Amino acid sequence: MFWWRTAALLAGLALLSLLLQPFFGWVATLAALVAGLLAILGYHLRNLERLGRWLADPTPEGVPESWGAWEIAYGRLYRLVRSQHKSQRMLSAALDRFVAAGEAMPEGVVVLDANDRIEWCNPRSMQHLGLDRKKDLGQHIAYLVRLPAFQQYLTAQDYGQPVILRNLTGSETTLSVQLVPFDSTRKLLLSRDITQLERVQTVHRDFVANVSHELRTPLTVVGGFIETLIDIPEMDPATRASQLNLMHEQTRRMQRLVDDLLTLSRLENGVELREDKIDPEQMVKLLASEAQGLSQGRHTVCVEVAGEGGLRGNYDELHSAFGNLVSNAVRYTPEGGEIRILWRVEDGQGVFAVRDTGIGVDAQHIPRLTERFYRVDRGRSRSTGGTGLGLAIVKHIVQRHQARLEVKSEPGSGSCFCIRFPANRMLDAREMSAAK
Ligand code: ADP
Repeated sequence: MFWWRTAALLAGLALLSLLLQPFFGWVATLAALVAGLLAILGYHLRNLERLGRWLADPTPEGVPESWGAWEIAYGRLYRLVRSQHKSQRMLSAALDRFVAAGEAMPEGVVVLDANDRIEWCNPRSMQHLGLDRKKDLGQHIAYLVRLPAFQQYLTAQDYGQPVILRNLTGSETTLSVQLVPFDSTRKLLLSRDITQLERVQTVHRDFVANVSHELRTPLTVVGGFIETLIDIPEMDPATRASQLNLMHEQTRRMQRLVDDLLTLSRLENGVELREDKIDPEQMVKLLASEAQGLSQGRHTVCVEVAGEGGLRGNYDELHSAFGNLVSNAVRYTPEGGEIRILWRVEDGQGVFAVRDTGIGVDAQHIPRLTERFYRVDRGRSRSTGGTGLGLAIVKHIVQRHQARLEVKSEPGSGSCFCIRFPANRMLDAREMSAAK
């Protein structure tokens, strides 16, 4: 195309000169031919100059426009630059997306070069490893993560498993850090905060140890008595009866423990909450009569109910939670003490409370009372039939009802365990009467 256009131009010029020759003679014709050639040269030089200027800032919009051979060249140049710009835009958008994804990752990511120097890192890695993106780029990772466990891991070059790093930045966090080689020279350093996971594992281990311990004692007692009964078949009836009684007591203890464990497991599995319309006054009266049954006349049991309306929640679960608080009050209040069971409505919120004049709890124990198997006085808890799981069950039930457990206690003077229900769990008198 280029050659065709150039040849056509030159041929046109030659033809024009030949046509002019008969009229103006050879000298003028040659002069016109030279002038024509100079004009063509000028056109090329001018376009070369425009091309040079455009190359200084080669945008698709800035590609010069012309005619003839240069029109073709500029047209191709325009298409080339436009497609390059398009793929550049796509590449940089892909890169932006990749960087944004890296920044948003919940795990720490550091890109290390062939010499283990930091090329890039995301905010989470800065938080995990205490890096500073402004200062630390280009620094050797071993200068910044100085724990011996990490240094050994880095030099051993066996990156199949992660390394566990504890208390790296002075905080009590535990990190799982793994190096992943890629693109033949670089490495990715991935860090994950496993503090919570470790805590859960510890709680789980302690729980299994506690359950085993709790079951072992009654099992040993029962096993011992059974052996005696086998060894001495002619045992006198009074001793036999007393041993059978003790065995019965121990099996009841195991039964209570297993029942509480099953309740706890059901609650922790988050079974759906069936909701009933509960009449607090009726519930409080029922709890008071149960408290009297447990107390066997050793305590004064009082009831206080103030406020209209009802409560939306699971009857069985709330009966069990309130019942646990009442039974604790009876068990941890010496003879002659008072147990007060209260229900009132405060600022639209429902408040259930059990107040006793018992042995109380020292402030340091209060935050841990709802932990499984946490007891202030192990002996007293066991001797009164406690499993150590009562308040853990209460905590779960309270949470399932979006309520709050508040504990106030004074050693020697008594305790108040209070459950505060949110306003949206309260039912007015009209809604309650519709339930009847
Ligand atoms: P337990 O079966 O041991 O009673 P809980 O989970 O019900 O287990 O209670 C945990 C611990 O909290 C008890 O061992 C006891 O030390 C303390 N506690 C609970 N309620 C009371 C209370 N009303 N007065 C004094 N201490 C209490």
